[in-house]
Amino acid sequence: MPELPEVEDAARRLRAAIIGRTFVTARALHPSTARALTDVACQQLIGPRVISVDRRAKLQIVRFADDRVLAVHLRMTGDWDIGRHDDPAPPYERARFTCDDGTRISFVDSRAFGVLTVHDPGAFTLPVYGPEPLDADFTATVLLTALQAQRGPIKPVLLDQRVIAGLGNIYAAEALWEARIRPDTAANRIALLRVTRLRDAIRLVLQQAPSMRYYERVERVEPVDELWRVYDREGQPCLRCTAPIVRIVQKGRSTFYCRRCQR
Ligand SMILES: [Zn+2]
Repeated sequence: MPELPEVEDAARRLRAAIIGRTFVTARALHPSTARALTDVACQQLIGPRVISVDRRAKLQIVRFADDRVLAVHLRMTGDWDIGRHDDPAPPYERARFTCDDGTRISFVDSRAFGVLTVHDPGAFTLPVYGPEPLDADFTATVLLTALQAQRGPIKPVLLDQRVIAGLGNIYAAEALWEARIRPDTAANRIALLRVTRLRDAIRLVLQQAPSMRYYERVERVEPVDELWRVYDREGQPCLRCTAPIVRIVQKGRSTFYCRRCQR
């Protein structure tokens, strides 16, 4: 599932392709996508110039010159496939936008859970999100205050977008391993020193995310799943202390951690 780094990467690719352009065609190609992205909504996107593409949490926000907004949530498997209008259609193409310079913007999504919605001028409001973990104002004190207001174990709390924006199941597990904090520790009982470690760990795992590295290096060499330090490594030795990684389920989501070095 795309988390902050993957959504950031998707937004960057979209931004590079569509800023200053206009759409000459817009169409939903799958019934699930067409529920929100109706024919009427598609028509409204044709004509006005794209002025910005932003990301907040896992939401991509495309603003047009007439102040209309296209909001995109990738959900489970959504992504952009960008090419030329006369290329063969990519697999799982669920929506297609053609730009005035002939660029093809395809929304590809094998599970088709992604949501694209068009908002009338002035009608778009952002959901309530917590701080962006890669912003400078995401300090240990900010995180400590947020955690002290929470009940329950730290791992599910980290997935709550109102606490921190953009963190998902994989990077939450990775950050807790990096910070040596057990995923079932009560969130409001983690003291400042450990919260500082957690804050640094969250930033580290997001900055080292495969898609971020991919973006920087242009060419990906390692398969993505070999880059996780703890996620999906049940039974394999901890890369820090060699104890076997265990898996537990919290709120229906798998959590992986080391019983020896995460306390
Ligand atoms: Zn360990």
